[in-house]
Amino acid sequence: MQKIKSTKLAQIFLAVVFLFSTFAGMAVKKSGADELPSLKGKKVLMVWGGWDGHYPKELTEKVLAFLKEEGAIVTVSDSLGVYTNKELMEEMDLIFQSWTMGQITGEQEKGLLNAVKNGVGLAGTHGGLGDSFRNNTEYQFMVGGQWVAHPGGVIDYTVQVTDKKDAVTKGLGEFKMHSEQYFMHVDPNVKVLATTTFTGEHGDWITGAVMPVVWKKTYGKGRVFYISVGHTPADFDVPEAWEILTRGIKWASGSKYLPKEEWMSPVYPGK
Ligand SMILES: [Zn+2]
Repeated sequence: MQKIKSTKLAQIFLAVVFLFSTFAGMAVKKSGADELPSLKGKKVLMVWGGWDGHYPKELTEKVLAFLKEEGAIVTVSDSLGVYTNKELMEEMDLIFQSWTMGQITGEQEKGLLNAVKNGVGLAGTHGGLGDSFRNNTEYQFMVGGQWVAHPGGVIDYTVQVTDKKDAVTKGLGEFKMHSEQYFMHVDPNVKVLATTTFTGEHGDWITGAVMPVVWKKTYGKGRVFYISVGHTPADFDVPEAWEILTRGIKWASGSKYLPKEEWMSPVYPGK
């Protein structure tokens, strides 16, 4: 009898907590997006190409529609040669790249790295930023991670928002994906905003591995934003994934106007 009573009480308590957190979450969600820099009048370069299995053109079009809606001035290029256009690169506020694998020349890479170092933001998804030029370690140093595997291919997995204070993920909780669960080699100094945990079903040695899915970092003066979902553009039909992507884009567009955010080594204890 006593047991039933306490279970009921616990249920009521949980229901109240759930309702409260839902309403609180809705209020916070709005303010999270509001805290981020506006894209109005910002100059954005979108670069797409590489392996077409990730539909880089379609993703570019999807994000382009959002950028235009927000009032950004957008230049689209399907050539990495644009990275050598110093004048154009210096003018930009943000680069959105969707280029899986492929090869970049030394001069093109230098153009991109220098632009970001000097304060142009960089944003991208999945293989379009996180598996772009496998031979170019300095590029990977800038991005903060490199894809190495997606065990099991397209599977069901969950993304947990781990940073509830950062404006990019504030007010968002966990969400489900049916896509590739990226296993990556990640720079320990990136600011991780969301993670996913591997069940081990497709590789027992990674059972319980917690992997960053969303991060932000800086490279020189430039802000870098990355989200590993996005195997197809339809991944961003998941509202939370789209919300994080669009907020991340806004955040990354602010490098030239906002003070540098400082963080270092959040993962390991000690110095
Ligand atoms: Zn993929």
